[in-house]
Amino acid sequence: MALIASTRSTCVRRRVGAVIVLENRILATGYNGSPAGTQHCTDIGCLRQQLGIPSGERHEICRGSHAEMNAVAQAAASGTAIRSCTIYTTVEPCSMCSKLLINAGCGRIVYMVPYPDELSRTLREEAALDSGIYEDREAVMRVLHGAIPLQK
Ligand SMILES: [Zn+2]
Ligand SMILES: [Zn+2]
Repeated sequence: MALIASTRSTCVRRRVGAVIVLENRILATGYNGSPAGTQHCTDIGCLRQQLGIPSGERHEICRGSHAEMNAVAQAAASGTAIRSCTIYTTVEPCSMCSKLLINAGCGRIVYMVPYPDELSRTLREEAALDSGIYEDREAVMRVLHGAIPLQK
């Protein structure tokens, strides 16, 4: 489902999706893109892209916010507590998102692809926030390639 959310992304560099789950129920979803009502990087270009900023650096100059931020914001907007949740995300959270998730009381992070942000890992370790890579990549690929039919 995080992969499906990522298909709505409006980032010109990488599509990321996130799903916040508690007790097998989806509380919120998010993808990376600009705040509601503002122009997107796909419409007017992205400064990080134009300046050739390497992956993992200078997030603050892009108008887009991250999938995890948008999912947490969606929960906040509807007054949904996400303490003890698991967040599933297609890419390992950056340091800004890790700060947000730590203080939102997130209980676990599961990601598909690692992201080069040492501070992010350090913060999560210090805060004892359980996080790790999604192990069953074969299952993801089977879903992506349509090997698992949709239930009728
Ligand atoms: Zn951008
Ligand atoms: Zn982030």
